[in-house]
Amino acid sequence: MKLLQKILNSVLPPRCILCGKILHEEEGLCPECFNEINFISRPYCAACGRPFPEASSDDGLLCPSCVKGGNYPFRMCRSAFHYDDASKNLVLGLKFLDKTENAGVLARFLYQAGRDIWKEGADLLLPVPLHYTRLIKRRYNQSALLAGELEKLVVIPVDYGSVVRHKKTRPQVEFSGHERIQNVKGAFRVRHPERISGRRIVLIDDVMTTGSTLKECALVLQKAGAASVDALTVARVC
Ligand SMILES: [Zn+2]
Ligand SMILES: [Zn+2]
Repeated sequence: MKLLQKILNSVLPPRCILCGKILHEEEGLCPECFNEINFISRPYCAACGRPFPEASSDDGLLCPSCVKGGNYPFRMCRSAFHYDDASKNLVLGLKFLDKTENAGVLARFLYQAGRDIWKEGADLLLPVPLHYTRLIKRRYNQSALLAGELEKLVVIPVDYGSVVRHKKTRPQVEFSGHERIQNVKGAFRVRHPERISGRRIVLIDDVMTTGSTLKECALVLQKAGAASVDALTVARVC
């Protein structure tokens, strides 16, 4: 296998998935691009995962809005890095430019970002589904690709079909704040509650912006009897 990899690398050398520079090994990003990415690191809120503005040594704290509680459907949310100018192309490449090979590299980041989730335990990875008309147009669901690659690393099965997005919604980028919540309301339906009931579910998506889509999906999973719901995304608007 090692030899085969060496031969392959000499014919088709691995490249940095952001700038295209040839790499010595299959590490995904060159050191320069890697350093540009704003990874989310501790300290962050133990529940929603939002990084705390100033460094504090206390771990396991909650941010003010999680202390207040309210209608928060997640056990925890985690993301690998900030969604900004440096990371944007990584996410958009996978979503719109057919750079499906990025999924393997991004799944490694997801694996790292999800360590608190793996520690607590999880039963199913569930990629946020696309409406079938969008799936036909894009030909793949980027979240399903990520979940499929992540499955190989965490050895937790992916559920591709228990939840469907049965309502066609406008892209969330066209809305802000409360409109986003309205836009995705009633968008998801659990088709196989028996596969969800009693399970600890990890929702997988590429970006969390306001979290409206993930929340709506989490709410239908809760109604279907999920034991807990986490959200794990590659990037996040913080
Ligand atoms: Zn690079
Ligand atoms: Zn929080």
